[in-house]
Amino acid sequence: MIELNSAIEGITAAFNILKAAIRAHDEKKVTDAMAAMHDRISELSISRLEVAEKNVSLHGRLAELEREVAEFKGKTQERERYTLSEIAKGKFAYKFTQQTTDHATPHHYLCQLCWDGDIKSVLQLSEDGTFFSCRCRKEHGIRIAPGVPLRLA
Ligand SMILES: [Zn+2]
Repeated sequence: MIELNSAIEGITAAFNILKAAIRAHDEKKVTDAMAAMHDRISELSISRLEVAEKNVSLHGRLAELEREVAEFKGKTQERERYTLSEIAKGKFAYKFTQQTTDHATPHHYLCQLCWDGDIKSVLQLSEDGTFFSCRCRKEHGIRIAPGVPLRLA
């Protein structure tokens, strides 16, 4: 922007010199002043192009940041649908707790270890009801002691 202001000041100065040369009826001074004015106009054109390029670059960066903010908001809203719960002694999972009109999503748990790593993995309960398995990693599974009720609170 400083370059743009400098170019505009240069044009103004060259224009003043041109006016003085015309008043003095000095053809050499008029020619020199017109050449100086031409140079300042060229500088201004270059400055305008540079500003336009920066503007395009900034618009691109703005669009990129808007996408990142939207993605972050989406992740935050998704996280707000779950609460960290202890489902067995010392074993944690994220419990689906959304209290809105979403009646289509059934009750479920997400693997805490996976989701803390930004992977959404629904825990699957074994048929005998003693083990929650994670589809991503076997070692994420949660064994539930037989006869001990799930901590579904
Ligand atoms: Zn997992």
